[in-house]
Amino acid sequence: MAIERTFSIIKPDATKRNLTGAINARLEENGLRIVAQKRIQMTETQAKKFYEVHAARPFYGELVSFMISGPVVVQVLEGENAVLKNREIMGATNPNDAAAGTIRKDFAESIEANSVHGSDSLENAAIEIAYFFSGTEIIG
Ligand code: ADP
Ligand code: MG
Repeated sequence: MAIERTFSIIKPDATKRNLTGAINARLEENGLRIVAQKRIQMTETQAKKFYEVHAARPFYGELVSFMISGPVVVQVLEGENAVLKNREIMGATNPNDAAAGTIRKDFAESIEANSVHGSDSLENAAIEIAYFFSGTEIIG
């Protein structure tokens, strides 16, 4: 196993309910290190570009509106197998399908307002990290 970095977002439904600390505790308890973090208000342009891969999906417009509906916390997480490990800690996209003890099972409000984003591959992690952070902002 290799030390990897992945990109994470604590979404507006979670920041609104003051769950940043609770979610960060889950990440840290499971061995991931938060090596960069900032609270931002995403612009519509940023959100559209970030979720461009879903542009053809029927929920794209709503997803973009949701992601700019309040502050988000963008993060870089580091650890052994970080990409897959974070996906495991997050749980399935739909909280109804998420395993017990996962962030989405315990905190998500719906399939859309599902509290967290996590990169789905090492390649996308690098792209997503570079989209929000400069190298000097990441302190490993
Ligand atoms: P994940 O975030 O688990 O990687 P996707 O990449 O498939 O899931 O989708 C990106 C985000 O789009 C989801 O986290 C969720 O916020 C939203 N989303 C996905 N599927 C739906 C859906 N059927 N209806 C509404 N929103 C959805
Ligand atoms: Mg995804």
